Amino acid sequence: MRIEEMFQPGKPVLSFEIFPPKRNRELEEIDDTLKVLCELEPDFISVTFGAGGSGISSRTVELAKKIRKDYHVEPLVHLTCLNYTKREICEILDELKEAGLENILALRGDRNPDAEPKQDFRYASDLVTFIREYGGFHISGACYPEGHMEAENQIQDIRNLKHKVDEGVSHLVSQLFFDNEFFYGFQEKARIAGIDVPIEAGIMPVINKAQIERMVSLCGASLPPKFRRIMSKYENRRDALFDAGMAYAVSQIVELLSNDVDGIHIFTMNNPKVAKRICSEIRNLI
Ligand code: FAD
Repeated sequence: MRIEEMFQPGKPVLSFEIFPPKRNRELEEIDDTLKVLCELEPDFISVTFGAGGSGISSRTVELAKKIRKDYHVEPLVHLTCLNYTKREICEILDELKEAGLENILALRGDRNPDAEPKQDFRYASDLVTFIREYGGFHISGACYPEGHMEAENQIQDIRNLKHKVDEGVSHLVSQLFFDNEFFYGFQEKARIAGIDVPIEAGIMPVINKAQIERMVSLCGASLPPKFRRIMSKYENRRDALFDAGMAYAVSQIVELLSNDVDGIHIFTMNNPKVAKRICSEIRNLI
């Protein structure tokens, strides 16, 4: 099913993000996680894709096939382009088509310090154009409530996003954020700019301090004082930090839902406990 068709007025979409097990691990190791996630009845599950530079990330495709075949949930396949040639991307698209996987999250990918980018794709919008011309796929894209780290400013970032959407994106998933005001401000500017596709809010439930430091250094999300206080109060008490992290994520989601957000995308970090806890708190709201 096309992801964009899942968005109906008054019915927010719920989706999860997972990453494939490392190459030296069995794919089946993720079954325990998938079983719990799928019992929570998400509308779709997205599967991340390595930024590349050292071969094709076929694990993503294998896992997406498994989600569809064994769990009957629609997968959204992430695909990055910076470190791939058109020929390599074409091979992946052939494989996806053959497997009947029709939803792709088209991404540029982060720069890999150990690999020179290939020259075929510069921005995600180039990949969107390429996939559209290849034909037969529904394309999602990423967006940034606080602006992308490399963008000159948010206005320019939204102009670039509008171009990406115009090239063929029919659904957006946001980067994580810890202050809903950033999301509301971004959403308003995006609508004014004429971006009218559904925008899902990306929520990262925090369960340990190292995780949050790593994520923030990678994506530049800002940490509101309320959030910092919670982290520093409970950083050395694992169970307390888990409870506090879940409560924070739930309060963000409840507020987003009450403001009629199009959907909630939970970065599960392959931790079924996280998704289960959050869903038990919001089940009657969706
Ligand atoms: P783009 O849309 O190309 O934007 C990147 C930058 O280029 C922005 O600053 C933008 O303003 C600018 N830009 C765009 N078009 C133009 C133009 N025409 N002229 C000038 N500037 C332009 N990474 C992975 O490696 N694997 C994953 O699975 C993955 N999943 C993700 C899922 C989500 C929901 C999100 C939000 C991010 C994910 N990422 C993933 C990270 C992503 O690859 C990085 O954030 C990357 O730096 C940007 O990717 P993009 O697709 O948003 O790029």
